[in-house]
Amino acid sequence: MALSKLNALYGSKFEQMAIRDHADHPRHHGELRAGCVIDMNNPTCGDVIRLSVKFDGNTISELAFSGHGCTISTASASMMTELVRGKTSADALALAELFSKMVTGEAVAKDELGDAQFLAGVSKFPQRVKCATLAWNALKKAIETDGHAESRTTHA
Ligand code: ZN
Repeated sequence: MALSKLNALYGSKFEQMAIRDHADHPRHHGELRAGCVIDMNNPTCGDVIRLSVKFDGNTISELAFSGHGCTISTASASMMTELVRGKTSADALALAELFSKMVTGEAVAKDELGDAQFLAGVSKFPQRVKCATLAWNALKKAIETDGHAESRTTHA
């Protein structure tokens, strides 16, 4: 996305800088050698993501993403991986729900979302919501697939 378009999307310079930083220098970028691998795409924009998630019982111990996408989808994936690493599946699902509410315009406790809160402006652009939620949807799928190992739970 051109910077001018990004400027139109977001009012705050600080938010723009945070989004651009994550898009240009994505955290946890790559693929894991082990773990659950989810491929997802957003046909309306052309975003493609491969998310690998490694669980330790109910906890997301490591995750990484690759693929290609627009500024919003890449920044969102980077912010998501940073936020949910080390969290339990239940906490991560709650954050996914919170993020989804935020980008569809509901008033939520944004602070819990870390850097992902800087994508709140997406709510003004419904056609970009799928870009922002792509990585989170991949995470939800990974948790559904492999993240509910209750019987192996060793955490209090
Ligand atoms: Zn996109």
